[in-house]
This record gives sequence, C-alpha cells and structure tokens, in this order.
Amino acid sequence: MVPLRAVVVGAGISGLAFAHRLHVLAQQAGRPLELTLLESSNHAGGVIATLRHEDCLLETGPDCWAGNKPAGVSLCRELGLQDQLIGTRAGLRRSFILHKGKLQRLPEGFFLISPMSVGALLATPLLTFAGKLRMGLDLLRPARRDTGDESLADFVRRRFGREALERIAQPMVAGIYNADPEKLSLQATFPQFLEMERNHGSVIRALRKKAAAEARSGTSSGAEIAKAAGPRYGMFVSLARGMSTLPDALVAALPQGCLHLNTPVTGLTQAGGTWQVKTASGQHTADLVCLALPAHASARLLQPAHAQAGAALAAFEYGGATVVNFVFDRVQVKHAMDGMGAVIPVVEGRDIVAFSFSSVKFEGRAPEGKAVVRVFMGGALHPRLSGLSTDALAEVALRELRDLVGIEGQPRFTFAATHDQAMAQYHVGHLERVKQARNLLAGIGGLSVIGNAFDGVGIPDCIRGAEEAARQALATAR
Ligand SMILES: Cc1cc2nc3c(=O)[nH]c(=O)nc-3n(C[C@H](O)[C@H](O)[C@H](O)COP(=O)(O)OP(=O)(O)OC[C@H]3O[C@@H](n4cnc5c(N)ncnc54)[C@H](O)[C@@H]3O)c2cc1C
Repeated sequence: MVPLRAVVVGAGISGLAFAHRLHVLAQQAGRPLELTLLESSNHAGGVIATLRHEDCLLETGPDCWAGNKPAGVSLCRELGLQDQLIGTRAGLRRSFILHKGKLQRLPEGFFLISPMSVGALLATPLLTFAGKLRMGLDLLRPARRDTGDESLADFVRRRFGREALERIAQPMVAGIYNADPEKLSLQATFPQFLEMERNHGSVIRALRKKAAAEARSGTSSGAEIAKAAGPRYGMFVSLARGMSTLPDALVAALPQGCLHLNTPVTGLTQAGGTWQVKTASGQHTADLVCLALPAHASARLLQPAHAQAGAALAAFEYGGATVVNFVFDRVQVKHAMDGMGAVIPVVEGRDIVAFSFSSVKFEGRAPEGKAVVRVFMGGALHPRLSGLSTDALAEVALRELRDLVGIEGQPRFTFAATHDQAMAQYHVGHLERVKQARNLLAGIGGLSVIGNAFDGVGIPDCIRGAEEAARQALATAR
C-alpha cells in the first residue's frame, strides 16, 4: 500500500495532538503513514513552555487546564502521564480581587460573573448598596427575546448593571480570555449564561437551582459550586514536572525523526491532488496538510492558493499576553500568600491583569523558603504597555507587585515571556465566522486547519479539535 504523506505545520499542542492521533489511527487501520511535523521555533509545545531555575519550576505560558473537559486528561493517561497529573493545592483554593486599592478575598457564592444566591450578593464587599440592588434585579428582569449574539459586557450590564461588570465580570473574564468584554462574544465564550437566562429567566435563579440539584445528587461539584469563589480551582489540573511534560511526551510517541524544529513553512501550493509545502531547506510533497497555527499565520500560507478561505481565516482577531515569573525568598513577600492569586479590575487603573502565587497554587513549584509569583499582563485592555520590551514589562510587573503584595529587595530571578498574536479573540459574531471559514475550508481537499480560533482557546479544546480533525482527515484521505 502506498504510504499516506502527511505534513503538519506547527508543533504547538494542536499540531502535536493532530500528529499523534493521526499516527495512532493510521497504525490501528494498518495504513502506512509518512509523517512530517514542521515547526518554526526551537521547541515543541508552542506557547506551552516550562523553565527550571535552581529548584523552582516556572511556566512561561499556560500553567494548567480545565480538567472537567476530558480531552486533556485522557490524552495524558494515554501517554502514561497519569501519575504526573496534579490538582491545585487543597485548602487554599481561594483568590483575591483588587478593590479600591486593596486585595479583598473573592466572596464565596459567586460563579464567575454571577452571585449564586441573594445572601452571597448581599455579603459581597465589592459592590455598593445600589450596585447590589441593581445586580439583584436579575431576578426580576425579563429574558432578552433577540437570539442574536451580544457582547459579554452588554449581557452583564443588561442583567446585573455597570458596577457588576466593572468590579466583578471584567476581571474574572480577563483572567481567562484576556479580552475586551465590550467585544467578547457571549455565545462563543459563556453560552451557559445565555441558556440560564433563556430557561430560567434569571442567571441567579438558574445557578441557585443548579447548586441545589448538584448538592442533592451528592456530586463533589455540587458541594464545590455552592461554595464557589470566582474560579473553581478544584477543576484545574497541571503536571508535576511542568506543562512541557505533555508536548514532550507527544513528541516521544511520534515516529522518530518526524519533527523538524527551526523550520518555518514559507509557502503552500496545491496541484493535481497533492500539496507542496515549502521551507527554507526544501520542499515536502504531501497528500494531506494540517495547518496548526494561529489563524492569521494559516491565512498567510493559504491566501495565495485559496484567497477566500485565507480571507475567512484572516478575519479572526488575535491578541497577546506577557507572563512574568519571579522567584523570591519567601520572606521577601510580605503578603500571607494564603490564596492562589488575584485578578485586577481595569477600573483600578493598574498595569497588570492578574497574578498567581504559583508556589501556593501547585505543589513542587518552589522549595521551602522560596516563592514563585507569576504576573499576567498585556492584552486588549492594557494598550499603553504595547511596544515595551520584555525587560521593561518585567519592571512594570515588579513595581505593581511591590504595591499590591509588598516585595522587599530584588527578585532572585526574573523571566518574562511575551506571546504576540497568540490568543484568538472570540469577538461578537465569532461562531458565524467559524462556520463560514469551515464551509470554505471543507471545499479544499487534503487540508485540515486547526488551532485556538475554532473550538475554544483552552488546551483541552485545542486537543479535542485536533483529534477530531485527525479522525476526519484519515477517514477522507485517498
Ligand atoms: C500566555 C498564555 C497563557 C495561557 N494560559 C492558559 C491556561 O492556563 N490554560 C489553558 O487551557 N489555556 C491557556 N492558554 C491558551 C492555550 O495555551 C493556547 O490556546 C494553546 O496552547 C494554543 O495551542 P496551538 O497549538 O493551537 O497554538 P500555538 O501554541 O501558538 O502553536 C503554534 C505553533 O506554530 C508555530 N508556527 C507558527 N508559524 C509557523 C510556520 N510558518 N511554520 C512552522 N511553524 C509555525 C509556532 O512557533 C508554534 O509553535 C494560554 C495562552 C497564552 C498565550
């Protein structure tokens, strides 16, 4: 049988998961496969990268993922990493929010953007009395009739009022999407809130019912949801030896020699049912090509041969983020570090989006006596930082930490990583843009286009999308 020649462009988690699934399925089907994975940078994993400094472990991109979406955990188990899976440290699963210059504990009984009971709403110190009354109006206001998409900000203002948007929803959501809530599509990011409004006429009422039902059924999430305080830290998982363990294990499971690092793809042409994939060091002929890149990079490669599909991909906007990791002696940090970290509302006028006490959040990130603190910054709501060097950004991050948690002296180690144009922004109309792009791409034989523009930005979403695309690609391959 003639081998199927497959070229995957981009060795981030999407490209690696695609390549792995294609390899496994082809083996199972007894289909010979000639697999090539081309990556422009000097490492596999894309934005996922773990750094070790002395005895500390630093994540320069994502630091965990949502374990309630099964694709990530299943893939780890398949790769033999089950013993590496770790949860956030129990007992300290709470976080802080900056309010009028002071870090306040996120109140219990809130689920992301909404209180789950009138009691929780009344107890929160984050809103004025008028703000609480306005938020409580969610129980009385009729559901919106129009079924079209709307921004997260419009939804929150409509149901809960402006104060709830500025003080609670914006910072909570920025910690996940690092996007402008005025542009963020509710349908594409939090459709569950839309359903709650539609089915129960009120988000608070729906959450109260959900918590009661889950508590009655005795599920652990029932108990947890009833006490939720912002992010549900219990659902996040990471890897004991760091996030890079996953891409490293995927590379190890691929056929030897198929991954080519430092090999940017510069062109793509299609003729007579085969593809020519160009790099500086040569050309690869393929029956099947998978573009596992940010959509703007896929667009650039595809546009010359398939202008319409390329334009549809170019329509996805992307944003950036900077992650600054600091290692301190524990005594240098004046804060009690009795939580996982904090989110910072834009109305507070600070220059960072959020920070994590990484050595509290996960075990094994720092030895006794040291502390790792990770600052998340940049993105759509902090335009004044754009153009600053990573060194300058690290200085800004340190200045902010000194103010917010009290830092004495200089960090033992600092590492700043900037990820430009790496995060797809799910703006209003996103689902429609995905549909349109997929329709156009479906007409191009032997091509899969994946990445974080399509099925969700989270790591399990990228894995699920990649695995599904690999299944389809093999099923339809000639
Ligand atoms: C700072 C940050 C923090 C995040 N935190 C979390 C988190 O905590 N949890 C979570 O679930 N998700 C998180 N995300 C989102 C998630 O990590 C990403 O959506 C996901 O990892 C994207 O993977 P990908 O493979 O699609 O893209 P990428 O990781 O961007 O990989 C694309 C790859 O393609 C390569 N490439 C680009 N152009 C070419 C070319 N022409 N030729 C060859 N190769 C090319 C790039 O070098 C890169 O390696 C975070 C993202 C960022 C940026």
